[in-house]
Amino acid sequence: MALIVQKYGGSSVGTIDRIRNVARRLLDTAREGNSVVGVVSAMQGVTDRLIKLAHEVTPAPSERELDVLLSTGEQQSIALLCMAIQDMGGKAVSITGAQAGIRTFGSHTRGRIGSIHPGFMLSRLAEGNILICAGFQGITEEGLIHTLGRGGSDLSAIALAAALKADVCQIYTDVDGVYTCDPRIVRDAAKIPSLSYDEMLEMASSGSKVMQARSVEFAKKFHVAFEVRNSMNNNPGTIVQEEIPAMEAVAVRGISIERGQARVTVSGITAPVAYTAKILNALAEAEINIDMIVANTAHDGIARQSFTMHVNDLGHAQAALKPLMAEFGPNARLETEAGLAKLSVVGIGMRSHSGVAATVFQTMADEGIPVGMISTSEIKITLTVDERDVERAASAVHAAFHLNAIKP
Ligand code: ADP
Ligand code: ASP
Ligand code: MG
Repeated sequence: MALIVQKYGGSSVGTIDRIRNVARRLLDTAREGNSVVGVVSAMQGVTDRLIKLAHEVTPAPSERELDVLLSTGEQQSIALLCMAIQDMGGKAVSITGAQAGIRTFGSHTRGRIGSIHPGFMLSRLAEGNILICAGFQGITEEGLIHTLGRGGSDLSAIALAAALKADVCQIYTDVDGVYTCDPRIVRDAAKIPSLSYDEMLEMASSGSKVMQARSVEFAKKFHVAFEVRNSMNNNPGTIVQEEIPAMEAVAVRGISIERGQARVTVSGITAPVAYTAKILNALAEAEINIDMIVANTAHDGIARQSFTMHVNDLGHAQAALKPLMAEFGPNARLETEAGLAKLSVVGIGMRSHSGVAATVFQTMADEGIPVGMISTSEIKITLTVDERDVERAASAVHAAFHLNAIKP
């Protein structure tokens, strides 16, 4: 008998028919003789709707109250799913984040999991119940509700699989697995049979939101292998696991896209101040996450510095940096550009295969797509392009690396 954790995302529980479909799948897994823990998201669209409601009440809702509000989405779906299982003759109990013993710390709306105390869950499992746990939520030592960041039910599932020492962890969604690129953007994207935690992490954190990036980090740290599968069929999915040597045979595993990017450039810097530290400190104080950073100093000693960030942060970044400009010299200027997207090419095989960057840039040149900023890690190359060009760029790079040739 195995302990199986199955996570079902918002689209998989988006309607009552789909909730019944999930109930049937969980029940079938239990009837095969397994202990079953379901982790579910809010019904599709519910979290967005709740956020919109909060912003209709006030432009700056309190994060504490947002957490109280948003966590109700998952509580609706766990109760409905338990009712569906019970209606089919099964035994199921709903479990909130607090009942699951998920202790969090950090800030509201982006709580971090500190520990899990699974006693209550284990005793309900021992009574022969299917457990239906609310994803995306936990509770602080002081008893305050936290949510775990958008897409956080993935993290709940991986963390519960680790705490319960599950034999199997399956993430069910609305596509057959992790593809070489978002299959809604590149039509001939291929399902990847298996990939390493690092590749999944780089893809997730550069826009492939099929998995929440933090959940993959957690899986890597606690060695939780998992499989991404489709809740509407029984096709084999994508296994995400420790790196195995054969994985390096392929240079490029996948391509990610992230829209809604903006660039800020401070140019004409002549004053001999520690400008990089000043700029970064000002942005950190304003709680702005920056991503790519490019700095250069010309022969004449005039420096410029650019960074990318989400377009929603652009206004705050300008406000944080304007007061500094006078310190950077009389000709220092602040320029901004919105309407950008990031394109990332990911694969652990890049460590041992040369020429990946050359192929990417040759493809951009052949397509006549101008490239803005560039950054690289050991297993990823990221570049910015105009948002209007990004789908064409992704399709062209996908074809250049023959990614559609990978057999599912
Ligand atoms: P869930 O509600 O199940 O959590 P998500 O919407 O968070 O589902 O994730 C599934 C979606 O992720 C897919 O519908 C797909 O459009 C998108 N996606 C983005 N990149 C990829 C990728 N590389 N492979 C598969 N799906 C991807
Ligand atoms: N319901 C939450 C969200 O929409 C968590 C999740 O779906 O994983 O972000
Ligand atoms: Mg998701």
